[in-house]
Amino acid sequence: MATDLVLVTGGRSGIGAAIVACLAERGATPVVVDIAESGPVPDGAISWTAAVDVSDEQAVEACVDAVEREVGPLAGLVNAAGILGKMHPPERLRMRDWDREQAVDLRGTYLACRSVGSRMATRGAGAIVNIASVAGMTSGPIHGYGPAKAAVISLTQSLAAEWGPRGVRVNAVSPGFTATPALKAGIASGAMPQDRLVRHAALQRLVEPREVAAAVCFLLSPDAAAITGINIPVDAGFLAGVTWDAYGGLR
Ligand code: NAD
Repeated sequence: MATDLVLVTGGRSGIGAAIVACLAERGATPVVVDIAESGPVPDGAISWTAAVDVSDEQAVEACVDAVEREVGPLAGLVNAAGILGKMHPPERLRMRDWDREQAVDLRGTYLACRSVGSRMATRGAGAIVNIASVAGMTSGPIHGYGPAKAAVISLTQSLAAEWGPRGVRVNAVSPGFTATPALKAGIASGAMPQDRLVRHAALQRLVEPREVAAAVCFLLSPDAAAITGINIPVDAGFLAGVTWDAYGGLR
């Protein structure tokens, strides 16, 4: 992976920032693109200073064009930009919130895949990892976010088949509840008490951002050269444990 250029959306916070750190430690050159304009990046990373909203088609295209022109061809893309979902029942979930969740979490992922993946396919090489969620693999009271993440998993497979013949791999990682600023804000507000979040996880704990990052770095690396179109949950055993509630819970 040494010196490979990897664009990381949402790279200024949480899971995206951990991915940037992991890539830099492994000798790659992550390019941090975010709607937040500034902030420190680790040694070896490039901070793209212009703010980019991944849901904005022209902004994404202009950014990718400028990165490739000024820095070089991208070997990797990680779509980590995202917003967590509102937990309201349908009659209280405002359509502008629902639309924004689709726009950032699904449309944003598609736009960055389209822009970077098409260029990779023309060159005949590249690897993409989309950050989905266990929320896209199960049901929950997040009626905008869950379907958006399920669609990201579907999109990952369809783009893997689209671009596989031209040497581009596309995979997803689905984190469980991960200790990032976004989730910690939900815990601090009382909306998502931590004991409830960890109760169903087989490992009885939250996931650390660097644990998600390790799976992403693996999928980008030559060690994963034969892997495309898959979705790896990194969830501390949430999917394994959650149905045990019907039998009285984990013991
Ligand atoms: P976070 O808020 O800590 O980081 C998200 C980053 O994305 C921030 O830097 C933010 O500025 C950026 N961003 C938000 N909207 C953007 C936009 N429109 N354009 C460009 N950048 C934008 O959140 P996180 O918890 O690290 O989440 C990262 C990803 O992981 C998201 O896709 C989220 O859905 C997913 N995820 C998180 C959890 C969790 O428990 N934290 C679980 C499953 C999946």
